[in-house]
Amino acid sequence: MKNLTSIQPSKTQHARLAALKQSFHDWNNTPDVLTQMAKRLSTTLSLETQLGIVAEEIAATIPFDALNYRHRIARQDFVFSTGMGGPHRCEYRLTLEGSYYGTLTFHRRHKFSSEEMTGLEMMLSAAICPLRNACQFISIEQAALTDSLTNIGNKRALDEALSRASAMADRHGAPWSLILCDLDHFKQINDNHGHVVGDHILTKTAEKLEQAVRNSDTVYRFGGEEFAILLPHTNELDARDVADRIRLAVESIRVDGGETPLTVTTSCGVAVHLMEESSDQWLARADEALYRAKAQGRNCTRVFATIS
Ligand code: GH3
Ligand code: MG
Ligand code: MG
Repeated sequence: MKNLTSIQPSKTQHARLAALKQSFHDWNNTPDVLTQMAKRLSTTLSLETQLGIVAEEIAATIPFDALNYRHRIARQDFVFSTGMGGPHRCEYRLTLEGSYYGTLTFHRRHKFSSEEMTGLEMMLSAAICPLRNACQFISIEQAALTDSLTNIGNKRALDEALSRASAMADRHGAPWSLILCDLDHFKQINDNHGHVVGDHILTKTAEKLEQAVRNSDTVYRFGGEEFAILLPHTNELDARDVADRIRLAVESIRVDGGETPLTVTTSCGVAVHLMEESSDQWLARADEALYRAKAQGRNCTRVFATIS
């Protein structure tokens, strides 16, 4: 291997190095508004922080009373607001290379002049690439937490949600319940009708589960034919009712299976979070309840009882 330290820079390289030093000095000391904003935006991939920077930097040049940003990223609405609105507004749909990255609206009590609007457009043009990167970062993060077959949260999302829920349950003392569902005799469905039909049933199950629970409840696929539902502010009796509602919803699924429509059932295990227990312990108790539901005939709900 070449010893890099022994290589002497050529004259051209010397000149380029000197120019680089000068650019670096200029980059660090320039009073230029656009460079300053770009520099600050390049320090973060958080869309919220970036929008805060854009708001601050624009406000220093073009005063406004409020800024709102809206964008739907990976099935979730992202909203950012700062200040209080005025009757006049300038709205910009942010697009780059044909892709849309949200709508920014500036509000003000007084009209924006055309010179100010040109300034806004120049600053947004300088912000669009970092904003695009931040939006893409959210999409990638979301993809890492989403099950690709059913589009609901995956095991990693469940682990993170369980840790957050355990901490919140400990801090506020409100009951949180966890329901685990495991489809019954699912292997037979795959064996008799093939994986594609099995996958279709898994997708339908995820849809039914999401329809059967409240908006504040979250549904995850954490194994092959295993689903979890996390229910805030729900005690074990109410969670049992939800689990039974889920079982009925799964039973109502009909999938084309040749002569007769295919049906499927699920067993459910329920556990309410106990003070100070880890998310692993909580999950293990729900799993134990599920194991009992399987052992005691399937298509039923068992609760890891903490009250008599
Ligand atoms: P039990 O009532 O005891 O839960 O029986 P089961 O057959 O559902 O359970 P078992 O653990 O024996 O088999 C689970 C089956 O789930 C095995 C596999 O064929 C199926 N499976 C797991 N992941 C997927 C998947 O992504 N797609 C499909 N189609 N099937 C899957
Ligand atoms: Mg299973
Ligand atoms: Mg199963």
